[in-house]
Amino acid sequence: MTDTNRANRRIAVVTDLDGVLANFHKGYAAIAAPRFEVDLTDEPTQWDFGLGVRAHELMKDIFNDPRYASLWDRLEPYEGIAQIAALNPVMVTTHRPEYARFVTLVWLKRHEFEVPSRTLLKLATAHERLHFLAALAPVYYLDDSPATVKVAETVPGVMPYLLDKPWNRKSAHELGIRRCVASLEDFARLVNEAQG
Ligand SMILES: [Mg+2]
Repeated sequence: MTDTNRANRRIAVVTDLDGVLANFHKGYAAIAAPRFEVDLTDEPTQWDFGLGVRAHELMKDIFNDPRYASLWDRLEPYEGIAQIAALNPVMVTTHRPEYARFVTLVWLKRHEFEVPSRTLLKLATAHERLHFLAALAPVYYLDDSPATVKVAETVPGVMPYLLDKPWNRKSAHELGIRRCVASLEDFARLVNEAQG
């Protein structure tokens, strides 16, 4: 086998951004807690903190208003992000609004990601995400959404892993998610082993 062939067989790596690399919940809580006069200091066990319709309204505001750009810029990284960045090349997918693109690229760069233009992909729907993953196969994929991981399990050549979080445990169990990792370090180790 030539080196070129070997390079072509290299496993691609794709990861979700919010809830995986970036602590969106903490940034969101900083806005939601004073607005709704609730205590949101603990890591949530539900994706929307149990705020229901109020959470969705606020989410809509955040997505539609470029004045929230600083929110994305300030998000804290999760522990182990350096090991993910070191998997270069790694691609990051997101639902974030278009106005957040620049601050997101700067954020990724700040956390040691190489950021050529193809690093960050806005994939608005689950269908787009799966289509993209299928085209990249063989690919390792990391997400904190059990629903997305469950569907990705059906795509040939895609190895989806769920990142275990308090807010996805119940649903992961109900959906019977096959592959789960406890940390970013664990996922990076699996990828490194697979790449050999
Ligand atoms: Mg996510």
